Parts: sequence; C-alpha cells; structure tokens
Amino acid sequence: MEFTGLKEKTLVIIKPDAIQRGLVGTITQRFENKGLKLAGMKMMRLGDEILKEHYAHIADKPFFPGVSSFMQSTPVLVMCWEGLDVVETVRRITGITKAREAEAGSIRGDFAMSVACNVIHASDSVDTAKSEVSRFFADEDIHDYDKTEYMHVYIEEERE
Ligand code: ADP
Repeated sequence: MEFTGLKEKTLVIIKPDAIQRGLVGTITQRFENKGLKLAGMKMMRLGDEILKEHYAHIADKPFFPGVSSFMQSTPVLVMCWEGLDVVETVRRITGITKAREAEAGSIRGDFAMSVACNVIHASDSVDTAKSEVSRFFADEDIHDYDKTEYMHVYIEEERE
C-alpha cells in the first residue's frame, strides 16, 4: 500500500455514539467536503482482541474496560481516507480527545461532550496510520481510482 504524497492514508473509525446518534452521513460529509478521497469503508464489530491491539497505549489505564465495552456496544464503521498530509489534516478536523473542550468547527468540538464518547477515532501519525489501516483492511479492500475532482482540489504541482 502506497502512503506518500496524494496517496497518504489514514484510518477513521465512526464510534458507537455516532452510529446511535445518526451522525454517519454528517461526519462522512465533513471529510468529503474537505476534498479527501475515500479509499475504503466497512462496517464491523470490534472484539476484545483487536481493541487491545488498537488501544495498546491505553490498555493498562483504569478507564480502558469502559472504553472497550463502549466500542463493542454497536458495530462501528471503519474508513480509510486519502490525501496530501491527510493524517495531520484529519487529526485537526477531528479535534482533541476531551470533546467538550475541542475547538468549535472540529468534529468532536461540534458533535460531542464526552472524553470517551467522542464520535470518531483518527490515526495520530503516519506510522500509526500505516499499521492501523492494515489492522482493519486487507490490501484488496483499499481501492485505488482516479478522483476527477482532484484537479479542482489541488494545484498541478501538488498532484505530481
Ligand atoms: P485520541 O482518540 O484522541 O487519539 P487517545 O488515544 O488518548 O485519544 O485515547 C483513545 C480513546 O480512549 C479516546 O478517543 C477516548 O474514546 C478514550 N479515552 C481517552 N482518555 C480517556 C479518559 N480519560 N476517560 C475515558 N476514556 C478515555
């Protein structure tokens, strides 16, 4: 999987609170409106094992069991978005973890109040994105295609 330039990829998970609250379309639209390219999307139920791996950096925190059961309370939508500097861009659009303090205009800032129920996950670095995209998607589930809109989203030099 290529992860450079326009082909940089990041993983977004639409969490159970957003599924329950009917925010899938609204959240997806934010990424589409920004000019990002959808490279993969599927609905899945997360289990203990994949959550321990995905959240290894918080797995020994006292709040982890609560986060794990929240993340298993409904299926989630996993998405792979693509674009120039997409990892950093999506983190900025996402907003900080504690949603009620997240900047207005960010997804968490506009749609959530909790530190746990913060509507989406987004990869926090290019290296993390590489391992997270391959954790949730087989290579053949990431799709390469020409997005005709790109000629209006980027200047020619950025598309090379
Ligand atoms: P982020 O998702 O912003 O990268 P972290 O990687 O630190 O944040 O945490 C992963 C997820 O664990 C958060 O998105 C949130 O759902 C949950 N979480 C983080 N900190 C807390 C906390 N103090 N209490 C409850 N849940 C938390």
